[in-house]
Amino acid sequence: MSVDCLFCKIVAGEIPATLVHESDRVLAFRDISPQAPVHVVVVPKEHHADIAALTTADPGLAGLLLTAVADVARAEGLVHGYRTVLNSGADGGQTVFHVHAHLLGGRGLSWPPG
Ligand code: AMP
Ligand code: ZN
Repeated sequence: MSVDCLFCKIVAGEIPATLVHESDRVLAFRDISPQAPVHVVVVPKEHHADIAALTTADPGLAGLLLTAVADVARAEGLVHGYRTVLNSGADGGQTVFHVHAHLLGGRGLSWPPG
């Protein structure tokens, strides 16, 4: 756990969240500011700042993160598709520096995004 990390606090149960999926190493919860009818944040329980840090330290855990995305998409009934976003760094729009995948779906999503 990293001190003052919002998602570490959610993993620790110190900040409430609406959980949708949990395994030994991965947690998924609803985004507090949803950008689509389904907007779930999927995180490794261990703290890694971004996708580069995660894949360097533990590529297997990166695989488990993506597996959880697919499992949640299936559980949420996103049979027509969904989008998975991993923001990295300031230019990538990352605001919480605990690596996470956004799972967005439940409506048609334009590409490129607006
Ligand atoms: P990012 O900009 O990629 O770092 O995404 C961070 C996401 O965390 C944003 O979509 C926020 O809406 C979401 N978020 C912030 N605080 C919470 C919270 N307490 N519970 C759930 N999601 C949150
Ligand atoms: Zn963290």
